Amino acid sequence: MAENSTLRSELWIGGTWRPATEGGYDVEEPATGTVMGQAGSASAEDVDAAVRAAHEAFIDRRWSGLSGRERSRILLKIAELIRENTEALAQAESRDVGKPITFARVVDVPGAADQFEYFAALAQQMDGSVRDTPLPAFAYTRREPHGVVAAISPFNFPLILSASKLAPALAAGNTVVHKPAPQTPASAQLLGEIFQQAGLPDGVYNLVTGPGAETGRQLVTHTQVSAVAFTGSTVVGREVARTAGELLKPVAAELGGNAANLVFADADLETAVETIISAFVFNTGQFCMAGSRLLVQRPVYEQVLEILGAAVGGVPLGDPSDEGTVIGPLVSGAQRERVERMVDDAVSAGARVITGGSRIEKDGGYYYAPTVLADLPEDAEAVREEIFGPVLTVQPFDTEAEAVALANSTPYGLAAGLQTSDLSRAHRVSEQLRAGIVWVNTWATLDVAVPFGGVGASGWGRESGPEALASFTRTKSVIMAISPEASTPGAS
Ligand code: NAD
Repeated sequence: MAENSTLRSELWIGGTWRPATEGGYDVEEPATGTVMGQAGSASAEDVDAAVRAAHEAFIDRRWSGLSGRERSRILLKIAELIRENTEALAQAESRDVGKPITFARVVDVPGAADQFEYFAALAQQMDGSVRDTPLPAFAYTRREPHGVVAAISPFNFPLILSASKLAPALAAGNTVVHKPAPQTPASAQLLGEIFQQAGLPDGVYNLVTGPGAETGRQLVTHTQVSAVAFTGSTVVGREVARTAGELLKPVAAELGGNAANLVFADADLETAVETIISAFVFNTGQFCMAGSRLLVQRPVYEQVLEILGAAVGGVPLGDPSDEGTVIGPLVSGAQRERVERMVDDAVSAGARVITGGSRIEKDGGYYYAPTVLADLPEDAEAVREEIFGPVLTVQPFDTEAEAVALANSTPYGLAAGLQTSDLSRAHRVSEQLRAGIVWVNTWATLDVAVPFGGVGASGWGRESGPEALASFTRTKSVIMAISPEASTPGAS
């Protein structure tokens, strides 16, 4: 095992580390392509043990039976401990994702802590309401937890996208079995002990890891899992939604994206270019909300390409443990090959390479040069599909209506944005863009108070904001007789 790796080949079940019956599987370090350690390889038996532990913790009400205020105190303590453990969590996040350490420290770890802090407040506000009816009865609603929630997260933001499920799920009184992506289990492995230290009762949070899709499938289909919170690709999301649908389990689906960034000729180009670049290189382009489809109004099209051509190559690329690094390696060799193939196909179909366009050999890691492609055919896969690498495609447009039509010409609908100095246009176009979140003169500015999630092939869940609680609660109505007539069915 490489020095400083915190990985362990066990599973966190019922408040303790247990050996995985099938041993461990290798986890790679993307910056070097070498094995950094092993994580537990959960069998169906292990998944069952984790779900049973969560189920028992739900049924005996050790968590849901606490008052909202008591749950809130523990969630706040979790937030505090996450902040105290920033360095350990950031290092773990940086190593297996290949994420630049500076971003892990200033974005991922505080972003995860924010989730617990925010939902700690909402844990105290799980109010139902009294209903005014003509019944001779007192009628009210209660918001109740589902039971055991399966939280399945992707590789690109392991910590934040786990916290964005765990915090609202726990705030509402659910218990959880968490499954991170196979490539990136490291930060999740640090959570169980943090939760326990904060006072979360054993069995309320359980972690299963595994090398493939099977662990996730076993979780979704387990009879004691009542709801699923999934973030990942559209392809897998469809399967998860299909299975959960068949079993009539609620599922929150946060899926892939293919966001368009519209640059109007009236935009402040200097600011716009900074936004354009960070929108497609952030997290090495492995970002569901990446602004990877740039649409530029024709009068400034060549000028924008020229500025991008001069600036993009200067974005610091390298070892993610270096504090100055902005672009790290892609998460795996397979991910780099996918990006490479999409770029090569676009170039064969006539795309003009403004900058980049090839892999970078460095330390055995999975690096790919930040790439800008112009003049692609509209049906190129790089335009139509999520690339998930540091690649920007650029297309011109003439009118506002054409820009909106091009932006919306995708089944995805996670994010979109526009760069303009015209206030009326900003509101008009924001309304017409088919996306769950729209940014004006900025990109990827996010906060836990503001909901995000997609439409169409990007799914339907909403994380962050009070809206997130919809995925983790259900409504019960209670009707209590206050006069003898109320005992007659339908009395009013
Ligand atoms: P993925 O779909 O391959 O995997 C996501 C998770 O699902 C992993 O934990 C994986 O092990 C698990 N999984 C795989 N097959 C499964 C199955 N059959 N049943 C249950 N679970 C299964 O995604 P990824 O490659 O880890 O992440 C990248 C994708 O996630 C991109 O498409 C990206 O756009 C998307 N994403 C979306 C959001 C959002 O908020 N909408 C945020 C981040 C990432």
